[in-house]
Amino acid sequence: MDQVEAAEPGTTSVPTPGRAENALRQFGWLLVMAGPLALTLYSAAALTRGKVSWVYPVAAFAAAAVANLGTTAGYHRMLTHQAFKAHPVVQYALLILGAVAGMGSPVCWAQDHLHHHSHSDTEHDLHSPHTPRFRGQLFEGLRKLLDSHMGWMFRTHDVKVGAKARQITEMPAAQFVHRTALLWLLAGLLLPLCFGWNAFLWIGAVRLFLNHHITWSVNSICHLWGRQPFKNTRDNSKNNAIVGFLALGEGWHNNHHFRPASARHGLLRGQLDLTYTLICLLERCKLVCNVKRYAACRVCHDWFSTERGGHTSCTRCQQQAQAA
Ligand SMILES: [Zn+2]
Ligand SMILES: [Zn+2]
Ligand SMILES: [Zn+2]
Repeated sequence: MDQVEAAEPGTTSVPTPGRAENALRQFGWLLVMAGPLALTLYSAAALTRGKVSWVYPVAAFAAAAVANLGTTAGYHRMLTHQAFKAHPVVQYALLILGAVAGMGSPVCWAQDHLHHHSHSDTEHDLHSPHTPRFRGQLFEGLRKLLDSHMGWMFRTHDVKVGAKARQITEMPAAQFVHRTALLWLLAGLLLPLCFGWNAFLWIGAVRLFLNHHITWSVNSICHLWGRQPFKNTRDNSKNNAIVGFLALGEGWHNNHHFRPASARHGLLRGQLDLTYTLICLLERCKLVCNVKRYAACRVCHDWFSTERGGHTSCTRCQQQAQAA
């Protein structure tokens, strides 16, 4: 078992699960990974043979995008990074959607993800395609890629959580979805069955396959390929336009490692960020508030929090403000 270093000072450890519990968890992950993959291959073959209407794959992508908002806006930006505050109805709705998208417990998700930010691309990172694991082994690069994509979930890890992670996990909506995640996953898979076998295949299984691999690509692809405008993140996080589009803005991953608390990941010009669009929409409906935003200073090009109203941390900007 991997012992993982404490993320913050004054941390406590999450109780280590027993051997039987681990085996069950690993079998569960295997089922959740292999099942949708097999059914996706079967559905794609049926599509190429012209046996299925094109409406189904379009519906699968649309449903995947809706469920993915639960991961991007709910699990990631709202819960883990506290990039905005949401009305309880929005909290429950987003976190339940994330569970439908097959992300498991939001509590564990947030703890693992905060740990990734603290140890990004170091030997302690839970999922990094730059891990020293597999060094010198056959197909080293491919094994690292697959490990950061999904293999890491099969390893038991004992993440020690800090005060911030503890505070996050106390959120009632997160506690509720932590206890009921499997139920929502099964509901998302089986409810489409009411509309027939093809609906189950495409909106249940293929949709879950898309949800998984699009989200996991942020951990694997976005630490390997793309642009890195913010080099001072001191990791290999990259802005990848394809993942940026598919993962509703999460693929602007170098921006995200640069300003993790920012509600907007598409910080630079022309970077589409549909998750941020949703957050702004909810803010207009008064369902979301305290949205954390960052902007580049026009004088020194440094990035500052817009909540504090203007850039005050550099002398050049202070002089400019006084002269004006
Ligand atoms: Zn990352
Ligand atoms: Zn993050
Ligand atoms: Zn400035």
